[in-house]
Amino acid sequence: MLIQLIYSSTASAAFSAEELTAILQQSVSNNQANAVTGLLLYTHGSFLQLLEGSPAAVDATYARIARDPRHHSIEPHLRTPIHQREFSQWHMGFHQLEAADARALPQFAPVFEQGFDPHRLTACPDEGLAILRAIAGLDS
Ligand code: FAD
Repeated sequence: MLIQLIYSSTASAAFSAEELTAILQQSVSNNQANAVTGLLLYTHGSFLQLLEGSPAAVDATYARIARDPRHHSIEPHLRTPIHQREFSQWHMGFHQLEAADARALPQFAPVFEQGFDPHRLTACPDEGLAILRAIAGLDS
């Protein structure tokens, strides 16, 4: 059995490119070992991340991430069974949203203006999945 989990969070301080790279290297290394795949998005000091894999691996990874002092206000928005992985190409993909994304994806304008809003994502978790799929180039 496989699950997908999506959460959003707020960076504790502005991240440098080096700090983001360090998180990504640590994530890819751990996720490879645990057969976890997914995608991490960053904009306006906020993160949106999707993790997929076995329930035990995803829950253990999420529990470690939720204890990390480098971010706060960690809110889970979706935890659902899936038949197959959608983000299997990345042990952890990463994309920092930029102006070109805003032009290509006008339907997600609030995210490009203010970052990931946990209240909005809790009310409409499918929107989080939709933006992750759109950035990954997957059909939603
Ligand atoms: P170690 O690398 O030994 O770290 C030990 C402790 O130190 C941990 O509690 C860690 O939180 C903390 N720590 C490490 N480096 C720093 C630092 N520079 N500043 C402050 N504290 C630090 N991990 C994954 O395995 N998979 C993921 O997909 C993943 N995604 C992440 C997404 C975000 C937005 C963030 C902020 C972190 C993510 N992490 C991810 C990292 C995760 O939070 C843990 O730091 C990591 O899993 C712990 O790895 P480790 O057990 O090898 O511990």
